[in-house]
Amino acid sequence: MRIGVLGGGQLAQMLALAGHPLGLRLEFIDPSAEACAASVAVQHQAAFDDLEALLRLAERVDCITYEFENVPSRSLEFLAPRCTVYPPLAALALGQDRLQENSLFRQLDIATPDFVAIDGLDDLQRGMDQIGLPALLKIRREGYDGKGQAVIRQPQDAAAAWAAIGQRAAILEALVPFEREVSIIAVRHPGGEVRCYPLTENTHRQGILSRSIARPDDPMQPLAEEYIGRLLERLDYVGVLALELFQLGDRLLANEFAPRVHNSGHWTLNGAETSQFENHLRAVAGLPLGSPRALGPSAMLNCIGRMPPAAEVLTIEGAHLHDYGKQGRPGRKLGHINLSAPDGAALEQALAQAEAILQKGA
Ligand code: AMP
Repeated sequence: MRIGVLGGGQLAQMLALAGHPLGLRLEFIDPSAEACAASVAVQHQAAFDDLEALLRLAERVDCITYEFENVPSRSLEFLAPRCTVYPPLAALALGQDRLQENSLFRQLDIATPDFVAIDGLDDLQRGMDQIGLPALLKIRREGYDGKGQAVIRQPQDAAAAWAAIGQRAAILEALVPFEREVSIIAVRHPGGEVRCYPLTENTHRQGILSRSIARPDDPMQPLAEEYIGRLLERLDYVGVLALELFQLGDRLLANEFAPRVHNSGHWTLNGAETSQFENHLRAVAGLPLGSPRALGPSAMLNCIGRMPPAAEVLTIEGAHLHDYGKQGRPGRKLGHINLSAPDGAALEQALAQAEAILQKGA
């Protein structure tokens, strides 16, 4: 069976690797001459809105999926009548717009930080009165990893924040003093079956995910499962969905969802019975889902900007290095280290060792 993917970055690369033992072959569209998935899958080098290339891909594959959410939704609209496309278009379209995304959370009774739509400085003045300060101004579209965001701490910061985000349509969101950032990843089969991975606790540096630790049996798991279950059902979703949340006391507030495999689920490659990549492919191919159960204490550290020496990382007991084969550049995700350990204390020790190696070159 052949699966088409829009996007040829590390997520497509890891999907291709996970699909291979199942006999699933991946072909992807990406305009870049350096798409890292090209080492393990067939590339059609073209723009994401190149209709001829989309048509060619649709003719060659049994189903199409995508690995990043800034794929033009028009391209999926074009593909949908010609080929099975999963996850559904509505999930991509809603996830591309923070206002629609937060409004969907609200409709589904999924708690969020307070937010208001902002289309100009006047709105911003009113918005600050409504939700209070500090607050975060976020562009509605195309923001990721903290890009297109400005913090407003005092009313006089408003004009500078509006300029900093390029005066683009935005939302103003209360800056929440969260205790933890967590995410839940779930997979839904076309037949409606849902499986949820254990909650993952995430740490960001400069807006970029740096560390994820799996937390099986976390007390917040049932609420997170309820929230993601509502989203999956409303969107009639197929594939892997990730939901990022802030924890405040016994509450979870939704930050955003990603209609794709997610960086906070990379630990599942070595730490779960079935990885998020394999389960995404099983779902879109209509195959039975695998168990998302954690095999034991597991964590992931991102390698950002430069790769650590493999020979050093692999001296750590339970460490697995994933090198995407990308050119180093500040702030770029080049690979990750997965860590598995027999118990929590051993995992903490492995994390400290791996972080020391990553720090050395920083
Ligand atoms: P985002 O691009 O929305 O995922 O934001 C990137 C990071 O900024 C998040 O992972 C949080 O660490 C932080 N952040 C985003 N929204 C808020 C908020 N409303 N309150 C506090 N921190 C936030």
